[in-house]
Amino acid sequence: MKSTDHYRPQESEPMTVRNERVLGELRRVVRHAAEHCDEFRQRLDSASMAPHVIGTLDDFSKIPPLRKKDLARLQQEKGLDWFLTAPAGSLRRVYQSPGPLLDPEGRGEDYWGWAEAFHAAGFRSGDLVQMTFSYHLTPAGLMLEEPLHELGCAVIPAGPGNSDVQLELMTTLPVTGFVGMTSFLKILGEKAVKQGLDLGTDITMRTAFVAAERLPESLRTEVEAMFGMVIRQGYGTADVGCIAYECSELGGMHLSSRCHVEICDPVTGEPLPEGETGEVVVTPFTTDYPMIRLATGDLSRIVSDECACGRKTVKLAGILGRADDTAKVKGQFVYPSQVAEVAAMFDSVTRHQVALDNPQGRDRITVKLQLDGDLDVEAFRAAFIGRVKLNPVIDILPEGAELEADAPALVDDREYG
Ligand SMILES: [Zn+2]
Repeated sequence: MKSTDHYRPQESEPMTVRNERVLGELRRVVRHAAEHCDEFRQRLDSASMAPHVIGTLDDFSKIPPLRKKDLARLQQEKGLDWFLTAPAGSLRRVYQSPGPLLDPEGRGEDYWGWAEAFHAAGFRSGDLVQMTFSYHLTPAGLMLEEPLHELGCAVIPAGPGNSDVQLELMTTLPVTGFVGMTSFLKILGEKAVKQGLDLGTDITMRTAFVAAERLPESLRTEVEAMFGMVIRQGYGTADVGCIAYECSELGGMHLSSRCHVEICDPVTGEPLPEGETGEVVVTPFTTDYPMIRLATGDLSRIVSDECACGRKTVKLAGILGRADDTAKVKGQFVYPSQVAEVAAMFDSVTRHQVALDNPQGRDRITVKLQLDGDLDVEAFRAAFIGRVKLNPVIDILPEGAELEADAPALVDDREYG
């Protein structure tokens, strides 16, 4: 993809230019919310902050985060109006996600900001796209259909399930794009092969945009090869819309031009040094339902390598776990995903689990390992210290003993008080 082939000019602005633009957008969003949104006004009051003190991005980061895990409860206690800057009737739509969580949609063009993500994935005017996310109550189907219209694509609102009907549509219409989950696309491919179809000639889909589930590279490669197509993923939530998306070059997901993203300490909400893993805290530049510093509960880290696609925005290194599964030990966060990375480096480790306790009030971290074969314990320890920054007790399970397949990755048995 040529460097000029971007949907919005902001995609190729250097990070210094981006940060200046972002600061202006944040000031606008904060000022509007402070005037019109009860929830945000209360949050500023709780930190004894006035909206005019946002002089820098650091000032902005002092606003206490709004935790996604509190949203459903707060909506029930306070009502949706408490979060809105105008009456609910001025919105375009109100969805409900499992939780139950209400997701208001404002009237602005490309409100959820997915158009640049679809463009980066390869969707273009004239594409015929089969949408397999749900249109009923939850926002996925409509949220992802609107940007396709903006790009000039036509959409078949197929919705989820009905694999026979989906395949019939794919083989009788010149469908060029797919939107949905990779696991579903794989099921459709396998079914088509069983029916004797040739995926290279009977199906004309060449581009897929996927979301809503983890995408292992092995699954991407398998399904791309199966259909002879390109699969790209986006990351966002039903509250804020698009946060980041993959380009042709992969290697992470570029931050969207329509929001500010911080990687923060999951406990304090303060930004972490660049490159560290922490919670994704996002602020979209929309004002109808101000989600200012929404702490998503998702973990990631920033990758700032230059990208050959020409976009200058940094990337998120994928979603590396959930903040709820993390624990702080001796001042260091322990993320199950980091431990899994270490375990994957040693072929003989078949299962692992991290256990935390605090005998005599001192934190202790133990890695339980189930082995098939020999392990160089000191090499494992060195790799663990390199990634997690803590020296663990290594507990190798005796032969015959097993960790359950669904055992939690991290068990925190520390006692306080
Ligand atoms: Zn790129």
